[in-house]
Amino acid sequence: MLSEFVKSADWKSEKHVPVIECAETVKAGDALAIAVTVGKEIAHPNTTNHHISWIALHFVPVGAKVSIEIGRCEFSAHGASVEGPDKGPAFTDSTLTIRAKLAVSGTLYATSFCNIHGLWSSEKAVVVA
Ligand code: FE
Repeated sequence: MLSEFVKSADWKSEKHVPVIECAETVKAGDALAIAVTVGKEIAHPNTTNHHISWIALHFVPVGAKVSIEIGRCEFSAHGASVEGPDKGPAFTDSTLTIRAKLAVSGTLYATSFCNIHGLWSSEKAVVVA
C-alpha cells in the first residue's frame, strides 16, 4: 500500500512535516480558519530541483470510515525560467490556507509531497461544540 511510504515525524526537527494550525475547538457551522505549512520550524528548500509540490487537507469525522478532502493546493512556481533553473521571478511558498465549516468533531489530516523526499503527513483533532 502507498501508505507504507507516507512519513511523519516531529515537525520541530523535520522540515517536511505539514504543520496544521487552527483553533482546537469551533462552534458548529462557524468558519474555521486552517493553515497548513511545510517548513514551519526548519525551512524546506524552494528551488527548481527541490521543492514542495502540493499540500492536501482531509477531514475524518469521528467514527467515519472515509475521509473527506476539504482542500488542496499545488505550488507550481519554483524558479524555473528560460534563463535556467532558479533564475525565474516566481517561487510559490508551501502554505495552504483555507476556511471550513464543520458540523461534527473529527480529525484533520494534512499530506504534503516533496518532489525528492516523497509523502509526509500529520494530523490534528478538532472539537466541534
Ligand atoms: Fe525535500
